[in-house]
Amino acid sequence: MSRAAAAFALVLGCAVQFCAAAQAANPADCWALHKHGHVAQSEACFELLTRSSNAYERAEGFWGLEEWEQANAQFRLAAQGPDAKPMVKVRWGMLLHERFNDPDAAGLFHEALEKDPSLAKAYVGLSLVSAESFDGRAEEYAAHAIALDPKLVEAHELTAELALTNDDHMVAAAEADKAMALESDALDAMAIRAALKLIADQSPEEWFAKIHAVNPGYGEAYALVAHQLELHYRYEDAITYYRKAIEADPRLWAAHSALGIDLMRLGEQSETYQELELAYNNGYRDAETVNSLRLLDSYKNFEMIRDDSTVLKLNKSESALLSPYLQPELHTIIATYSRKYQMTLPGPVQVEVYPNHEDFAVRTMGMPGLGALGVTFGEVVAMDSPSARKPGDFNWGATLWHEMSHVFILTATNHRVPRWFTEGLAVHEEGAHSAEWKNRATPDVLVAIRDKKLLPVIKLDRGFVYPDYPAQVIVSYFQAGSTCDFIAEKWGEGKLLDMVHSYAKLATTQQAIQHDLGLAPEEFDKQYLAWIDRQYGAEASHFDEWRVKLRELVAAEERKDYRSVLQNGPAVLALYPQYVDDANVYELMAEADRVLGDSKSEVTILAGYEHVGGQSPDALKRLAALESAGGNDAEAISTLERVNYIYPVKDEDLHRRLGELLYAAKNYNGAIREYNALIASNPVDRAGAEFALAETYFAAGQRDKAQDSVLAALETAPGYQPAQKLLLELEEPSAKRN
Ligand SMILES: [Zn+2]
Repeated sequence: MSRAAAAFALVLGCAVQFCAAAQAANPADCWALHKHGHVAQSEACFELLTRSSNAYERAEGFWGLEEWEQANAQFRLAAQGPDAKPMVKVRWGMLLHERFNDPDAAGLFHEALEKDPSLAKAYVGLSLVSAESFDGRAEEYAAHAIALDPKLVEAHELTAELALTNDDHMVAAAEADKAMALESDALDAMAIRAALKLIADQSPEEWFAKIHAVNPGYGEAYALVAHQLELHYRYEDAITYYRKAIEADPRLWAAHSALGIDLMRLGEQSETYQELELAYNNGYRDAETVNSLRLLDSYKNFEMIRDDSTVLKLNKSESALLSPYLQPELHTIIATYSRKYQMTLPGPVQVEVYPNHEDFAVRTMGMPGLGALGVTFGEVVAMDSPSARKPGDFNWGATLWHEMSHVFILTATNHRVPRWFTEGLAVHEEGAHSAEWKNRATPDVLVAIRDKKLLPVIKLDRGFVYPDYPAQVIVSYFQAGSTCDFIAEKWGEGKLLDMVHSYAKLATTQQAIQHDLGLAPEEFDKQYLAWIDRQYGAEASHFDEWRVKLRELVAAEERKDYRSVLQNGPAVLALYPQYVDDANVYELMAEADRVLGDSKSEVTILAGYEHVGGQSPDALKRLAALESAGGNDAEAISTLERVNYIYPVKDEDLHRRLGELLYAAKNYNGAIREYNALIASNPVDRAGAEFALAETYFAAGQRDKAQDSVLAALETAPGYQPAQKLLLELEEPSAKRN
């Protein structure tokens, strides 16, 4: 008899013959029931356990009855004393893991291992904790568990699940089969098999039928499948399977919460709220549930701005300022990608912009390797507002081009695209739109190139999901992006679209590269690495020298030795010209030029900074001021327009200066946009801003709007003479200016 069947028989015994069952009840069996979703049937059994004279058994009983606090207290009691079995700590750790306390759970697993280093289940626990945080050690722990106990079913099931997350389908299938060979009713292994079928667009029904035959109430199987679909960007399918999980086991609160969160990702609100609240009210209060409910509550501070093809969801405090920038940009992006990818989107795109980074982080919780700045769920994009970040940290324009590429590619492939490719293409598109937004080799990337840490293309996904070292996610974005740059350069942009179409037909990366580029992935890797070496090899090999010399340059600047900065700067710059982050040579030299009064040289170095993608708003605004002072208003305008993509918020000075320059250049539409942004920035001189806008409307021939603005100026400052004069002019029917 299998474990689950034996336990099931035991429960029936329990229900019929209480006293005998109380003697026979084995906590491990009850736990097996618990794990296999027999909670309702086994309630009597757990009830009996809570009355045991053994604290550990009472803990299992309360756990089975979902009385978490009591279970925790009994575990604490059971774990006391020098004779307590280390396994008690493992089970206690599992309870804490289930109840969202991974730090303490990990502590208990380690304590258990100190007492008994051969405890395979403690490694399973550590693996579960690692998988939750995507810290890269989950597979190692699971492998350790298997090495200690090759017959540990749950270790094989976990290894299969981790492999599937990494799209390693062969290992996933093999490990699931091992689990089933050890235990014919290994339900999670069957669920992995079902997920593999779904991911390959085949019917999973035979596996669900098997699961159903063992335990019709095992909702976890559907939830496991749903979670895998979610990790493969298939949110609508994930919703379908979370619904099935709840149908099988209406008390599966984790599935209620996950369903709510996926509905929220796709822009649904009322059912989201119901599901999350249900989970919350039943004690399922993990960070994702709690924070998502809080986020839903904050939606009252947002407003929706719609047109035919776009929906902007913006915080009311900044929607007037941001929507005039975001909406036209979104239209340009949609037109560009529709042409490039030869497709139209099925409906409007919703873009949500969060001024509070924590709110945005809630939208992306539990999503590995995603969510640094923006994230895409089907036709919904969520991103940080520029106001959520430090000025210069973030370019909302580049982020929007990036995320919108995902929207198109996920739609084009019906969400069947590997992570590396959709990320790579999105990064490539940023650079294709503007050379200044191009994928830059950051110090982490140069070190990875130098240390030969780039991954083979068919293994690139794992760099995003289970990074081996902290910077690997960033390095993987670079590698994926530069891989697409390389393909576009060597084979042409069209090949990238061919690969999109191959993925839509479920090709693997191996097949797509072979079919569309006509070479084996190993040969592709060789050519790619040679190309990388030509582009970055010198910089990578000089990296340490650069770092030492940059430090010397910073020291020279600190002791105000500006001549030395200017003398040595160019050589340091030449070692690594792409570096524009903290303490970059461009800004150090510009500072030296400024102090020494050489504005011509300062403009040159700052323009260099701008053209490699430097994004400090202060440095760029200084450049614009110098360009303007040097009589080059056109350059000043384009510099300030770059700042608008970086930090258009909390900066009335930016909008005033750009408005004046655009007005002088007779670009009235641009000036109107900027003066409106100035007013939305709550300027100190509000009447002056309204008057400037009125003058611009007047110059543009929009008399009605000019009148509205001049009246607004006079309402703010009734005695404002230039405004009174303009109002008189406007009331003169034949008035003409300019
Ligand atoms: Zn992305």
